[in-house]
Amino acid sequence: MKLIFLGPPGAGKGTLAAGAVDILKVPHVSTGNIFRGAIAARSELGLRVKSILDSGKLVDDETTVALVRERLAGDDASGGYILDGFPRTIPQAEALAGFSAVDRVVNFDIPDEAVLERLGGRRTCKNCGALFHVLFGKPRREGFCDSCGGELFIRDDDREEAVAERLEVYRKQTAPLIGYYRKKGLLLDVDARPGAEIVLENFRKVLGI
Ligand code: ADP
Ligand code: ZN
Repeated sequence: MKLIFLGPPGAGKGTLAAGAVDILKVPHVSTGNIFRGAIAARSELGLRVKSILDSGKLVDDETTVALVRERLAGDDASGGYILDGFPRTIPQAEALAGFSAVDRVVNFDIPDEAVLERLGGRRTCKNCGALFHVLFGKPRREGFCDSCGGELFIRDDDREEAVAERLEVYRKQTAPLIGYYRKKGLLLDVDARPGAEIVLENFRKVLGI
């Protein structure tokens, strides 16, 4: 199954994707994780995009589309994938349609206040990218990752100004994709306000899996 996860930052796309890949046996393709990996590796791409990510703005469409296109050409993605954080603009969606036909677009529905609360307490594993939250998803040992023991940190783009910028960018550039995919008959809405387990349950229901 070829899926897109659409929704504002902090809607829980990454968390749900982690659960959904186990069920669907498809790779989780997160452009945010790819960019952060490049930054951590200090690759040429990483050096180029670091200040963009820190500010909460978007990387240019050309760079992003090329990355995703290459990633989806990988053998492991031939049977399907979960795209998390891509497409984020109409031009990205149009480019994607040129090289892959998605089956469904899952729209994570959540109000701004909830987003602000969530991102403010978010902690990320330095080592494997796993996500935790100081209120809603505490790690077993404070400050350290449950999966790999890595140190947890606050992403620069989870700081207050960057969060406001990401929400603004989402409203202007990404939210139009909701109407775009609804018109194509691909959109499924999932209420993203409850906790992760309930969201996963609702996700299974709307997809019929
Ligand atoms: P979020 O937690 O905001 O959903 P992601 O981890 O998906 O964030 O992405 C983090 C950052 O990576 C974005 O703020 C943006 O700078 C960049 N990025 C990720 N995906 C894209 C994309 N499809 N187009 C442009 N920039 C992107
Ligand atoms: Zn970890």
